[in-house]
Order: sequence, then structure tokens, then C-alpha cells
Amino acid sequence: MAKVDLRNIVRNYGVQEEEASRFDRDRPALNNINLTIEDGEILSVVGPSGCGKSTLLKVVAGLEFPDQGQVLYNGYDVSQVEPQKRGIGMVFQDYALYPTMKGKGNLHYYFEVHQRTEEEMEERVHEIARIMGVGFDLLMGQKTDTLSGGEQQRVAIGRCIVRDPLVFLMDEPISNLDAKLRESTRMEIKKMLRKFKVTTLYVTHDQQEAIFMGDRIVVMRQGNLEQVGSYDDLYYTPSNLFVATFIGAPPMAILPVSHEGGTLTLADGQTLVLPDYIAGELPTGAMRMGVRPEGWMLGEGLTLPVRHIERIPTEQAAFIHGSIAEKNIAAVAPLDYPQADQVQMMPNWDQIYFFSAEDETPLYTPGVPELF
Ligand code: ADP
Repeated sequence: MAKVDLRNIVRNYGVQEEEASRFDRDRPALNNINLTIEDGEILSVVGPSGCGKSTLLKVVAGLEFPDQGQVLYNGYDVSQVEPQKRGIGMVFQDYALYPTMKGKGNLHYYFEVHQRTEEEMEERVHEIARIMGVGFDLLMGQKTDTLSGGEQQRVAIGRCIVRDPLVFLMDEPISNLDAKLRESTRMEIKKMLRKFKVTTLYVTHDQQEAIFMGDRIVVMRQGNLEQVGSYDDLYYTPSNLFVATFIGAPPMAILPVSHEGGTLTLADGQTLVLPDYIAGELPTGAMRMGVRPEGWMLGEGLTLPVRHIERIPTEQAAFIHGSIAEKNIAAVAPLDYPQADQVQMMPNWDQIYFFSAEDETPLYTPGVPELF
């Protein structure tokens, strides 16, 4: 296993001028990245399409070499080492199995090529099959081109783990699977990674998946790391407005307000009185207030004209959708909240965020609560 350090990594694909509009950028795909993946840690990477997630993974793998900076495995500089010499395992969205071999052959292959003992191989394959759960033994006996997408991906992951990789790299490994299979497969992947304590970089566009898989989560934007931390860190202490609105769905509402002596005035003239402990932290003047759907309390307060109520029986909750001064707002309500043209609501001051009016700097965040 390994600790991975990325130091001042720059990767610039050097897009030609005529291509620049197609790629919509003239910036590096990775712009001075510093990041450590601890030994045995699962690090998820999320961010909008094109933000550099796959390039980051490829640089760790050696499929792309950095233009500047270093990639260290356990302190050794592997920046210019070919991927096949790095001792890594990789699983991509398009699984790459040896199609004519049976599932088991796919797992055995490495041991045959590397002339490991039969015993060692059987033991490890058996262990993987046990952890992969019910049904995996059956997959072992089938040719891989007769397996379904989900089954193939499970074999592909098993094949990687069998090799005892220093670092495991996964790029959207389950996004081809249907929703139900995704849930069970991600559970299995996590179980395996936990059991074998493999250092893992897990790239996904799916925030929920990133949260589920990762010990820590990296949020990227336009080639930069915006924040690295636990889910709680990202949720309660976002480093900027981008992270705040990226984490959570429906996203945090952002309302322009003006602060004067503990009173907030919204763009439509409605006012709110701040508790002293927050007012004392805020400057006077224009700023932006952030409220998540779960950060509203129904009752007295602001008036929200209702656009529609979205009821979600699986969550036993509803979202009330509307807008104030042309800014979209969603508020969590009980599932059976009655139909209404407008509702009264207040921010829960324990769940309120403020950002600068000019840039994305946070002025006030709730901080991670001591829940447990
Ligand atoms: P993500 O995985 O987050 O969608 P990528 O790492 O694939 O992002 O891409 C980051 C940026 O680099 C994007 O602007 C993309 O267009 C560009 N890019 C990726 N691969 C290449 C390539 N082979 N040649 C030129 N530009 C590329």
C-alpha cells in the first residue's frame, strides 16, 4: 500500500487556438495541485464536467505525465514512471476484461503472468470471492462476455484487488449501471476497499456516491482544488460559495441582503432580525445569505410565494419551491404539508451562511456541530 503525494502538479494539454473554443478554455487542466492521499484512505473526487477529475486520476496513474510538479508514492518520485510499472489497479466506466476467459481466468491471469504460486492465487481469489458476496463464485465460472454490465464490473474490480495494488484508481466505475445495481455495487466496492485497506482515488460526477465512498472528498473546479475534507467539513464549513452551492441538492439558495445594525434587508424589501451572535460577526453593508432547503423553519417570518410542492414519499418529506426577489428557494417541509399559494418561513440561525457580495469568500458559516 502507499501514500500518494501530488506536489505542485500542472498539466496543460496545450490546446491549439482553433480548438480553444471547443474546449472552452485556455487554462491548464490541472493548475498547481497539492494533495495527499493517505495510506489506506479512500479519497473521492467530485466537480462539474471538465474540471480536471479524470486528468488528476491519469496523472496519479501515469497515463498522463505532469508538465510541472511531482507524483510521489511513499516518498518516491514516480512522475515519469510508466503506469504498468507503478503497481496500480484501475477500473474505468468501460470495464476491460479479457473477454474469452472465464471470470476466474480474469482473476488468475495476473498470477500466471507473474508466476506466483497456485496456492497464493487460490487463497486470494477465494478471499475476494468471499468478500464480493453471494453470486460472485457463480460469476467466476462464466465467460465474461456473457456477463451483465454490473457483473463484469464486479469481476473487473475483483481482478484489480487480487493484484494487491499499491494504489487503486477508479473513474466513474459504476455510472454505467442502473440505479439499483449501482447502490449494491458501491456497497460491495466499499466493503472490499475497507477489508484490504487499499489507498484509493475515486472519481465520480455523483455527489452522493462521492460522499458514500470517500473518507475525504475533494471538490474541483476549473483545474483547481476548491476544498478537501470530510463531508461535514464541506457541508458546514465550505471554503467558498462554489463549494457551498455544489454540496447539497436542491442547492443552497443565495439571497443578496444588506446588513445594518443586526437587521437584514432582502432585495424585495423584506427584513429579518439577526441574533446578536451572528450580527456581531458580520460587517455592515451588502452581502449574500445562503440557506439550504433543510435550513428553513416554517412558521413566522419571510413570505415565500409557492411555485409548487414536490412530495417525496421515500424521504417522508416535501420540498416547497418558490422564489424571493427572483432567487430560487427550496424548503424542506413535512410530506403532508398542505397545498398553499404562499408560506411563511425563517432561516434556522444554526444553519445559516453568509458570503461576500463581491467574491465567494465566506463571512460566516455555522461550523461543524458536535453531533455524536
Ligand atoms: P473531468 O474528468 O472533470 O470531466 P477532464 O480531466 O477530462 O475533466 O478534463 C479537464 C480539461 O482538460 C477539460 O477542459 C478537457 O476539455 C481538457 N482535456 C481533457 N483531455 C484532453 C485531451 N486529451 N486533449 C486536450 N484537452 C483535454
